[in-house]
Amino acid sequence: MIKKKIYLDYNATSPLRPEAREAMLDILSLEDTALNASSVHSQGQKGRKIIEDARRQIANLTGTDAKQVIFNSGATEGNNTVLLHFSQNFPDETILISAAEHPSILESLTALTNTKTIPIDNNGILRLDALETLLQENKTSLVSCMMVNNETGVIQDVSKISDLTHKYGALFHCDGAQAAGRTPINLNKNGIDFLTLSSHKIGGPQGVGALTLRLCGQTPSLLFGGGQEKSARAGTENVAGIAGFGAAAQQTQESLKDYRNLSILRDKIENKITSLSSDVIVHSKSANRVANTSFFSLPNTNAQSILMALDLDGIAISNGSACSSGTVKPSATLKAMGCDKNIAGSALRISLGWATKDDDIDIFLEIWEKIILRQNKN
Ligand code: PMP
Repeated sequence: MIKKKIYLDYNATSPLRPEAREAMLDILSLEDTALNASSVHSQGQKGRKIIEDARRQIANLTGTDAKQVIFNSGATEGNNTVLLHFSQNFPDETILISAAEHPSILESLTALTNTKTIPIDNNGILRLDALETLLQENKTSLVSCMMVNNETGVIQDVSKISDLTHKYGALFHCDGAQAAGRTPINLNKNGIDFLTLSSHKIGGPQGVGALTLRLCGQTPSLLFGGGQEKSARAGTENVAGIAGFGAAAQQTQESLKDYRNLSILRDKIENKITSLSSDVIVHSKSANRVANTSFFSLPNTNAQSILMALDLDGIAISNGSACSSGTVKPSATLKAMGCDKNIAGSALRISLGWATKDDDIDIFLEIWEKIILRQNKN
């Protein structure tokens, strides 16, 4: 019998939503696929319409105006675009970044000269007191803090962070890659000046994303070339990918309520795992978390071997942030939260999503129990 594959690694990437697949196939199976949206001929204009429709769908998801959405290749590009802009244009000012960020932000600590870290507490929440001290001590151009952490699922109070940032005359950048579709986002209400998004985290295709902006007087751009995206992002647009991203954004927005129900499955997982191993530490359990993510450590267990045993049984989970798996490094977020090496190095992440079913979790927990009982015997 062929084993059912169960995918529980949505924070790494999510399966393509049927609506996104359909939107892309509609374009890829056209008789005439030469849709350069910058061309004045009718094929070009068809491409333009597809892009502008998707732009509205992204704007709706993020509470902004379609004019303020710039398509790009994903959240890594969006994050780099904003950080490099501020580093190059305000060389005498500081960029403050939260200690729990994706590598596409954290690497700026070594790649750029004018960045400083804002500490987080042991629940993974940004320390507002420390942010205020840093803002008082440093002339700051930009503060960057993600809305939802990819490892712990912790939701930051971005409105408070942006208020504080603006009080000291700086602008606020927020990596929204893991927040879209998981918690409401509204650029104006949340006071976000720059928001980065990634299509593949919400059931769209990989290699597409957007930088959305408020009118704050700065339009960062990374690439020079043609005048695409009103000169904010040069390069011929990926029309089919953008259409898939737009369709995924619309579907994601419509199903935000269903998404919250995933917390029932997440809690079921955490209860069972805790009942089987008394030393499990569920990270950020008491913090405000998104419904789909559980991040925990098994200090006296070989987490890597559990991951591999699950994989043999057709179940995909992660050992922390996907971008650093393969090279198994202790989680940077957990280190910033003050966890010791043993705990940070034995973390596993389960992340659920739009196609997760109740019986996927029942099967997963049955297999989990079998693996843990076997490990305990050895
Ligand atoms: N930011 C966060 C919070 C992420 O989780 C990811 C994806 N792992 C990225 C940025 C990078 O996104 P992309 O793959 O679109 O470059």
